[in-house]
Amino acid sequence: MKLFQKNAFDHSIPELDVLANRELAMRSPRVAFIWVPLAILVILITDLKEKHLLQSILAVSLFVISGIYRIYLSQRFETTYHASPERWVNKFTLVVLLSASIFGISLPLLYFESGSNWTFIICLLTTTGITAVATGSLSPRRGLFRLFVLVVHLPIVTILLALGNLQEMGLGLLTAVFMVHILILGGYFHQIFWSGLRDAHQLKERAAALELASAEIKAANQAKGEFLTNISHEIRTPLNGILGLTELVLDGELESHQRDNLKDVHGSGLSLLHTINELLDFSKIEAGEMTMESSVFSLPDTLQKVVLASSMACIKHGNNLKIELGENFPDRMIGDSYRIEQILNNLMSNAVKFTRNGEIRLIGKLVKRVEGLVAFSITVKDSGIGITPEDQEIIFQAFKQVDCSTTRGFGGTGLGLAICRHLVGLMDGEITLESTLAQGSEFTIYLTLPEAQIPSGGPKTGNTAIANAHLGDDLQGMQVLLVEDNTVNAKLATRVLEKSKIRVTWAKNGQESVIQYIKGNFDLVLMDIQMPVLDGFGATKAIREAEKATGRRTPIIALTAHAIQGYRQKCLDADLDDYLTKPLQPKALRETLVKWSPRVLQQSRR
Ligand code: ADP
Repeated sequence: MKLFQKNAFDHSIPELDVLANRELAMRSPRVAFIWVPLAILVILITDLKEKHLLQSILAVSLFVISGIYRIYLSQRFETTYHASPERWVNKFTLVVLLSASIFGISLPLLYFESGSNWTFIICLLTTTGITAVATGSLSPRRGLFRLFVLVVHLPIVTILLALGNLQEMGLGLLTAVFMVHILILGGYFHQIFWSGLRDAHQLKERAAALELASAEIKAANQAKGEFLTNISHEIRTPLNGILGLTELVLDGELESHQRDNLKDVHGSGLSLLHTINELLDFSKIEAGEMTMESSVFSLPDTLQKVVLASSMACIKHGNNLKIELGENFPDRMIGDSYRIEQILNNLMSNAVKFTRNGEIRLIGKLVKRVEGLVAFSITVKDSGIGITPEDQEIIFQAFKQVDCSTTRGFGGTGLGLAICRHLVGLMDGEITLESTLAQGSEFTIYLTLPEAQIPSGGPKTGNTAIANAHLGDDLQGMQVLLVEDNTVNAKLATRVLEKSKIRVTWAKNGQESVIQYIKGNFDLVLMDIQMPVLDGFGATKAIREAEKATGRRTPIIALTAHAIQGYRQKCLDADLDDYLTKPLQPKALRETLVKWSPRVLQQSRR
């Protein structure tokens, strides 16, 4: 029957049924004993105590029993409901019906006994009032509250309308109107309750769907990251061969037109490498996987390196290049020098790219020193083509370049500044730009880093290597174990090493490298990481184990195409000593060999 429908909404969502019944159970204790004091009060102010004391005591007792049982049912909801929801609902309905029936039967009995006297009217009024209160607590289940209201009122309304005198018929009508009103009000409460329940359920479902979607996006991003790592490895390995062998050929005797062509090949290879690096960095940033490393470095040395890297291009474009370090400019800092260098190299290469026969200045300034922290700024200032105020707004966005033929002609991915901004952000710094069209641009990064208290000497700082780069000749006679599965790469590295008169032993995989290591007496190991049979990490572990017997530690340098953020740290954590990325740069290789050569190590121990 529609009138006794459990609720106004469909039951396609079983969880909502549970929630509605739980709410019913929760609301119950609040009204379970409401009848008891009221019944006592009615007995006291009417002649029930004289005429119907026994019946009155029986009614009050039944109210107490039904109240106790309702509380019992609501307390045990969590334990009993799930075992058999139907049984719980039936029991609850029965106990509600019991209290309703007490009224439903008492009122007609009272009427037949003594007519519509004062006691009857008081009982009728109290009953109707109480029903209104009960409707609120029963509203989560429409069928239940309707049943309750009808069982209480319908018998007496029918009797009054059918058998009563005019006055009693009026009383019956009044009660009927009140009953209908309570039913409407209860329906309204019911609707509010269920729409709230449905909204909450929808929200929960949406939150779950969002969570699922975000997990899927995360997984897709991870897959993208892994794909990029692998593809970068695949691209870098042949590129390593192309660049390295080109450099080797360029080092030898060549016709001038051959040299020019080969230089172009080399230049194109380098720009391809630059693009791969930018794409990799950007994807890492997007995936939130870019983290900063922290080690002691010399800030002025880093700036010198940046200037050095741009000097050739500057000369080519007829630009003057200056470095200006302000008073008390900090020296030893703790931070990610590699990323600072990357940011500045990018700003410098843009400055060089967009300036002809002008001036480029790299300006370092101390901002302030507070409790071991140093705030400083580094500005790259050029007198080039400049950028309009509108374009200044967009160039920090990924893949955005100034939309004009002049700048488009210079190439680039439009990722450089976006990467710079993210990297500066990861260091809690800021990057600003001031520029005037046709006058020049000024990019400034503001960073705050801890100042190193300890001297940054020892083989792990880049400066020692640079300072000792001229010692390249002293590599002569050094014994190096080269672990590399790719034949072209191995050939290239061997040629570079042999040029410095280094004696090279080649192992094709990690397992072979361990055997060779134990057999030989090496000054250094160049270890590829991704290899068949046993990878570089596994081989390093085995070598370190073998070293325990001799107590001698041989420097092991990772040689890998994984030029991704954090990989260097991964190598250091795996007990390797340093990290070189492919494509192998002969200069970087030589510098690293010098840095870890027995002679420099001996010097730094002194
Ligand atoms: P791209 O790899 O294309 O150089 P960037 O993000 O480094 O990407 O730079 C975005 C654009 O900002 C450049 O294409 C150029 O239009 C503009 N830009 C950057 N630096 C300068 C500069 N120093 N002078 C003039 N324009 C610049």
